[in-house]
Amino acid sequence: MFNNTPEVKFAINAVRQAAELVKTVQTETAENALTKGDKSPVTVADFASQALVSHLLMQSFPEVVLVGEEASDALKEEGAEHLLEQVTGYAARYIPESNPDTVCELIDRGAVDPASRFWTLDPIDGTKGFIRGDQYAVALALVEDGEVKIGVLGCPNLTDGYISEPKGAGTIILAVRGEGTWMAEILEDEEADWEQIHVSPRTNSSEARLMRSFESGHTDVSKIDEIASALGVAVDPVRMDSQAKYSVLAVGEGEVILRLLSPKMPNYQEKIWDQAAGAIVLEEAGGRISDLDGKALDFTQGRKLINNRGVLATNGFLHEAALKALRDVGA
Ligand code: AMP
Ligand code: MG
Repeated sequence: MFNNTPEVKFAINAVRQAAELVKTVQTETAENALTKGDKSPVTVADFASQALVSHLLMQSFPEVVLVGEEASDALKEEGAEHLLEQVTGYAARYIPESNPDTVCELIDRGAVDPASRFWTLDPIDGTKGFIRGDQYAVALALVEDGEVKIGVLGCPNLTDGYISEPKGAGTIILAVRGEGTWMAEILEDEEADWEQIHVSPRTNSSEARLMRSFESGHTDVSKIDEIASALGVAVDPVRMDSQAKYSVLAVGEGEVILRLLSPKMPNYQEKIWDQAAGAIVLEEAGGRISDLDGKALDFTQGRKLINNRGVLATNGFLHEAALKALRDVGA
């Protein structure tokens, strides 16, 4: 088993509670999205999830920095009053004496730059998947001096770490540096039955099961087809939103995740909260993650991975073959 340190306990508990909260929002609240400045959607659930994790962090480790995806400005704009009211209502179910100001303050504790040691949170990774009723994840990771030490993914719509099942038990995945990657049902309690998980042993590139973003706009679909041909893969890639993809690799049900750059956004830089938890989950299960040039992901450069270009994640055995295929097709 892993060491159940105060940090590990906090991370598991925070992701469990946030996942429960966002599931509740999904079943109760219909019209709850707005569009951010970068055109990406954000919902009542994203904000409420960040407020809750921020609150729990204040209770456990008040001095540690939180770097979260969301900020409250969008909630303070004209026309967003109803959203802020809803966010406050959900937050109040978990946080006593919540009001719109305290909730915005909690959210904005995450709207900062990383320190040498910090937690990073994607309150809902794959918001488009969440809105569609597909895959999404609550992703939380502890980063120290650029190294991810703990990562937790809460995937309410994923059963056994890889089966898409919106009304199923859901999966929580925990990775601790040097102590492996572990999986349990998301809604069990702390005494959950944790099972250690490992990547697939496949070494033949033509047998690789590829995965990519569900959203075509987040990647380069035609280049992915070229890479599949270069690897000798005949089966279409599995499309899945969010870091749930890393869970699928970590349980050995896929071999290669390709995060290519969209031709529409060739300079897109990955956000740290979109990769940190997934990266350690995969590495501690035996896999390997790098950028498209084979460079290690550099978590020392602020809120984005400015020293990296896209992401390649594999079971490890197929990493070199995938890097070669990327070079061969000029991706
Ligand atoms: P996925 O579900 O794998 O597509 O990953 C979802 C994440 O992709 C979101 O959390 C966004 O932060 C991120 N994202 C948004 N736009 C882009 C883009 N143009 N290219 C790559 N990733 C993006
Ligand atoms: Mg995300």
